Amino acid sequence: MPTKTKDVVVIGGGIVGTAILRKLSFYRLDIALIEKQPDVCEGASKANSGIIHTGFDAKPGSVEAECLKLSRDLWPQLIEDCKIPYIPCGAVMVATSEEEKQIIENTYIPNAEANGVEVEWIGKDELLEMNPAVTPNALGGLVVPGEALCDPFWATRSFAEIAAMNGAEVILGNGVRHIERHPEGLKLILADGQEIVSRYVVNAAGLWADEIAAMIGDNSFTLTPRKGQFILTEEQVPISQIILPVPTRKSKGILISPVVFGGFLLGPTAEDQEDKWDRSTTPEGIEAVLSGVEKLIPEARNYESIRQFAGVRAVCSEGDFIIRPSAADRRMVLAVGIRSTGVSASPGIAEMVFGQLQEAGLEAELRDSYVTEIPELFGEANEQEVGEIVCLCRSISRGEIMNAMSRPIAPFTIDAIKRRTGATLGECQGNCCIPKILDLYEEKTGVKPSQPLKGLLQSNLAHQGGTPT
Ligand SMILES: Cc1cc2nc3c(=O)[nH]c(=O)nc-3n(C[C@H](O)[C@H](O)[C@H](O)COP(=O)(O)OP(=O)(O)OC[C@H]3O[C@@H](n4cnc5c(N)ncnc54)[C@H](O)[C@@H]3O)c2cc1C
Repeated sequence: MPTKTKDVVVIGGGIVGTAILRKLSFYRLDIALIEKQPDVCEGASKANSGIIHTGFDAKPGSVEAECLKLSRDLWPQLIEDCKIPYIPCGAVMVATSEEEKQIIENTYIPNAEANGVEVEWIGKDELLEMNPAVTPNALGGLVVPGEALCDPFWATRSFAEIAAMNGAEVILGNGVRHIERHPEGLKLILADGQEIVSRYVVNAAGLWADEIAAMIGDNSFTLTPRKGQFILTEEQVPISQIILPVPTRKSKGILISPVVFGGFLLGPTAEDQEDKWDRSTTPEGIEAVLSGVEKLIPEARNYESIRQFAGVRAVCSEGDFIIRPSAADRRMVLAVGIRSTGVSASPGIAEMVFGQLQEAGLEAELRDSYVTEIPELFGEANEQEVGEIVCLCRSISRGEIMNAMSRPIAPFTIDAIKRRTGATLGECQGNCCIPKILDLYEEKTGVKPSQPLKGLLQSNLAHQGGTPT
């Protein structure tokens, strides 16, 4: 295999890595993204609360607060360009005791002011009128009108698709195993033996970013996995905002919010663990979610759960986002320790990383023209026809599945098709539609799927970017 050369390689296809890739793709640069999983958004970015936080509670002066501030201005255009499912519902932090009210007054209102975020205290009557499910014991709440909800998978996929349409190479299912110094940059050796020499590398490897940094001798930070368990319910919960508790020292606390595709999400817990891969749910965790939400919404324990899942945050020893060139080798820029607000902060992180790359010597000239918007549909006209219904539970048509397979970041797993279309998510959990989806996959790609369940459909996962416009 000949060694490839690149101007910038981003390691990690979560929301942070893809936001950076999108930003870089607007410039005359030869760029690539390397993701060890078979799809983008397989890490923390796929299992979280999906809140676009304003940063009202971020520590003033921190890197995180700065990224969130930058992002506040960028999200409105991104939502439009990427057609991201979005609910601008606002949030309310509920005070259930005099002590919590004091904490809001003495800590959160001044903090929000310091960060330039609009907040407003409302009394009990107004709180309960907007959110009848909230406990009658509440004394009132702090409304944060700018908080919103989004679909983080959609955002991540869209960022990667825009970059691919601008010519970025997206390599999936092939992780970075080893890094060597090279006269022309850093040489990345991938799991399949492929070698890429890149002038600059961005480390956006989420929970594994410490291992990537260690490959160039940077042991300056550690990352601790912190699990968050969730319950999804389709009950009709009478709330119109994201209902937040007063945070604990460890996390933003256990909350309840609407979900962009319907239903309500309860959670998450904050459990430190050793295993970076452990995304299991436990009876103790689910009980902690229920008792946490119950303090805000007394009926919570009676809601029927349709699904339970967990995500894992990367808690950094530095206590803040790290966005800077590595002291071990300035050709690697770190975008690491992105803990609780990485979805919200990703557009701002991309701006900051781009600035750091330029400071490290990257010269970047804007392309004459480039794609900034996601087209509604991809592929040939006949693929966009509705055609027969393939997933009866969710009414997903042949046209929608063929369209998903025509996108710049095409799916290589049943899970990836599920996330792009909603197929297999219904009551039968794919028992009826998976065989039909496999037939469509073969029709589209000419490849007979080899491992037909959740796993890979085929082994060659590189998406070559098209010719830059
Ligand atoms: C329970 C919970 C709730 C949260 N709620 C919110 C919220 O409401 N709002 C919000 O803004 N944020 C929230 N977050 C935080 C947010 O999810 C994260 O900050 C964000 O997803 C981090 O993105 P990332 O791209 O850095 O990491 P990831 O999404 O984990 O991506 C890193 C990627 O790097 C890849 N990788 C690792 N090693 C290698 C390698 N050697 N080679 C190639 N690829 C590699 C991984 O496979 C992974 O896909 C929450 C997080 C959790 C866990």
